[in-house]
Amino acid sequence: MTGRKKSTDYSHQPRRDRMDEERVSDPYRARGKWPDSTVCPDCGAIVHHGHWTWGVAAPGAEQHLCPACQRIHDRVPAGQLTLSGKFFTEHREEILHLVRHAESKARAEHPLERIMDVKDEDDHTVVTFTDSHLVHGVGEALHHAYHGELKSQYTDEGDLLRVAWSR
Ligand SMILES: [Zn+2]
Repeated sequence: MTGRKKSTDYSHQPRRDRMDEERVSDPYRARGKWPDSTVCPDCGAIVHHGHWTWGVAAPGAEQHLCPACQRIHDRVPAGQLTLSGKFFTEHREEILHLVRHAESKARAEHPLERIMDVKDEDDHTVVTFTDSHLVHGVGEALHHAYHGELKSQYTDEGDLLRVAWSR
């Protein structure tokens, strides 16, 4: 995994297939790592047919942190979204509301898709995520709602997907 860097323009092609490949190599998501009915002690998600899902834990189920809680614990995001621009500054609350709304919709179905942190830095805001599909989806939702400019790039460091939206 060295020297790999790619840029994707969302107006052309989201390249989901490539993202699924990436996910297989994600150490936080290694398949078969947890037996069925494992429960996460932090968020309560359970493993069902090899996938983390919301559900009711069986009594005496094995406990392991789910990949999202493990990332939060290790402070290792899978994706980050940088928000900037004059329009963003003027509509910050409204835009962050859309970001959070997109997250809660995704999280309701997929326990591993969560916001980790929202940080303000100088003239921009950085939102970190536990899942690269989610940061991708949130970027698209912003672009759909407000247009502006959307860019994404994988970095070598831990397969972090960086998405930047600006308007
Ligand atoms: Zn968890």
